[in-house]
Amino acid sequence: MKDVMTKIPAPKQSENLDQDQFLTILSREEALARFEAALFPRAIASEPRPLADALGAALSEDITAPIDVPPFDRSNVDGFAVRSADLASASEAAPVRLKLNDEVIACGVAPTRPVLSGTATPIATGGPLPRGADAIVMVEHTQPSGARAIEVRRAASPGQFVSYAGSDIARGEALLRAGTIIGSREIGMLAACGIAEVMVARKPRVAVISTGDELVQPGEALRAAAIYDTNGAIVAAAITENGGEACFIGAIKDDEAALEAAMRRALADSDMLVLSGGTSKGAGDVSHRIIARLGQPGIIAHGIALKPGKPLCLAVCDGKPVVILPGFPTSAMFTFHDMIVPVLRRLAALPPRADAKVTAKVPVRIASELGRTEFVMVSLVEGADGLIAYPSGKGSGAITSFAQADGFVRIDALAEQMPAGTEAEVTLFTPHVRVPDLVIVGSHCTGLDLVTASLSHAGLTVRSIAVGSLGGLAAAKRGECDLAPIHLFDDKSETYNTPFLSDGLELVPGWRRMQGIVFRKGDARFEGKTVQEAMRSALADPACVMVNRNQGAGTRILIDRLLGEARPDGYWNQPRSHNAVAAAVSQHRADWGLTIAPVAHASGLGFIPLAEEHYDFALVKARKQRPAVQAFLDALASEDARAALAKAGFRPA
Ligand code: AMP
Ligand code: MG
Repeated sequence: MKDVMTKIPAPKQSENLDQDQFLTILSREEALARFEAALFPRAIASEPRPLADALGAALSEDITAPIDVPPFDRSNVDGFAVRSADLASASEAAPVRLKLNDEVIACGVAPTRPVLSGTATPIATGGPLPRGADAIVMVEHTQPSGARAIEVRRAASPGQFVSYAGSDIARGEALLRAGTIIGSREIGMLAACGIAEVMVARKPRVAVISTGDELVQPGEALRAAAIYDTNGAIVAAAITENGGEACFIGAIKDDEAALEAAMRRALADSDMLVLSGGTSKGAGDVSHRIIARLGQPGIIAHGIALKPGKPLCLAVCDGKPVVILPGFPTSAMFTFHDMIVPVLRRLAALPPRADAKVTAKVPVRIASELGRTEFVMVSLVEGADGLIAYPSGKGSGAITSFAQADGFVRIDALAEQMPAGTEAEVTLFTPHVRVPDLVIVGSHCTGLDLVTASLSHAGLTVRSIAVGSLGGLAAAKRGECDLAPIHLFDDKSETYNTPFLSDGLELVPGWRRMQGIVFRKGDARFEGKTVQEAMRSALADPACVMVNRNQGAGTRILIDRLLGEARPDGYWNQPRSHNAVAAAVSQHRADWGLTIAPVAHASGLGFIPLAEEHYDFALVKARKQRPAVQAFLDALASEDARAALAKAGFRPA
């Protein structure tokens, strides 16, 4: 353990204040090892479960077949039960005539008359073989011969079309072993043996509590400064997905007495308790203090070298695991899937979740902080030789990145990066990921949704991953996407996009976006002015604050041309999207910026047009014939999409 600790370098200066609160930071591996050592081995409780509810449960006892299946020799076809010896000489030239016995053996009818030599008894598929018979001839191979006899024109071998008693499952045979996860096949085997109830591992009952004064439950009205409780719902669902019986208690305020009462009650009624939020050791954060009073040995790890997820707290109170997940939903999910799911599944006697891990190639380098295990959200797409995992949505606060992410990769604490081309293990948020039909990687535009809407309605899955124009072009060159939306201006030729294409790519014209200055309506420095006049008055007023764009953005090139040498207040505020610029202006954090007309209008801001930007698609030629690509090209050319684009303020090319 000492080894693990000493390899982890000292925290960066900027984190010292925060870090002081966690005096012992454990590595992920050490924290997990201590947590598991405090919980296992342990006896897993079992309970009887009706077959209808047993799907997905772990069998807790060996099951021996109590009967033969089938329970009697039975016919596999519709035909006649015969003695094969009677038909030894039968042929086309010399048919054998058999007299019919006076009964018909339907399914579920027990025969009463024997099949004597020279006779046959009509029998249905599934009917029990009568005494004396040893084979079945199919009805197709016979002909009626008078009212009460048949002619057979081919020989029958003994046992022909007969399933013998116990041939499927033999009485006394080991049917299923303890630990088997019950699927539909196992349910079928048990049902065939007449077993209506089995002993299975009892689902661990897991209480879920959200904490925070700011939380409101979905369905209720959102107060000022409040947010919806995301963790409660997502953690409860993830517990159910992993074999637990989730019991969501609600969101409890950051009040020590109220929270302690809720935690005590929850723990008394359950096998495990999962809280989220309130674990940062801040002033209002009390849950870890309460845990210390709930049982032995108490807190096992609080402060783990994870990014995000450092405040994760692992505890065991009188044998029951108690976990406090970080408050940010994505941090809560990373740590839950990575560190809590394995423990929960062991408590439920379930094996590690094989269907929730895939291997995929990470096409780009991901930088990582040395000394902390880092989780990075990824989106999966199908590459030429296997799955590709695109890193997406860094920043632990963003729930939206979930929408595009299929899971996450883990970068080891001792690695400073994950090199491009790494074959990484991806932990899926939801098992059995469906790889999208159409993959669009590059610059994002709200107009894109207007074009892809019809594809989604037609049942095609579309994934668009926003990595900027240059990132999209690189992905297209590597053949990792179908289309890369780009808006790159070439200074030399003064044209858009075409100069940036390389072999294997062709340009599909998209639409034009008017870029211009946004400001709050009524601001006299901008209202009714030309771009030049507006710039003069903005730069002349020292109280006027701008919002810039990130380096590499097409819009940034325009801003730099407008500003020349000037560096007004706000220059260093460099958000990465058109929407963020509009938000900064409408929320008074800035007075002006450059964005596209549809975004300005959607935010109700004033707009002075400057230049039209070309938003086009670099199409990977090798993938052009794919049905989803054709569907996209059709949609792009359609009247519906062009009308929708025009209505939203774009000019279709
Ligand atoms: P905390 O650890 O309580 O300081 O929470 C960290 C951040 O996560 C804060 O921004 C909280 O508002 C947010 N947060 C905490 N719990 C939840 C929850 N159940 N759902 C959504 N966000 C949450
Ligand atoms: Mg809180």
